[in-house]
Amino acid sequence: MALIDCPSCNKKISDKAKTCNHCDFAIGQASNEDLQRKKNLKRFQQQQSIQNQSMLAMLLFIGGFALMYWGTASTDSLQYTLSIGCSVVGFVWYIINRIRLIFVKRAD
Ligand SMILES: [Zn+2]
Repeated sequence: MALIDCPSCNKKISDKAKTCNHCDFAIGQASNEDLQRKKNLKRFQQQQSIQNQSMLAMLLFIGGFALMYWGTASTDSLQYTLSIGCSVVGFVWYIINRIRLIFVKRAD
């Protein structure tokens, strides 16, 4: 017995099951169109989540800069180190999300 993802709720179900025991979705009756729509929805949600993360990363980056700008100028302070850290993490995170987004859009 193998486990597959339910096309409707994405929970693990047996490939022998005729209906999903989580959401009662009739597996056998799912047309290609249904599956394709499900796939598109999943990809859309994935893109949304990456875009939200990009936004957070951007905020972190800007926040780090703001802290550096308005903070006390001494370069050996913890605040300065933190603000640099935030900017770097935010920047790298943002780039990673942009790359992930390209891959998600390319995937078929
Ligand atoms: Zn289900």
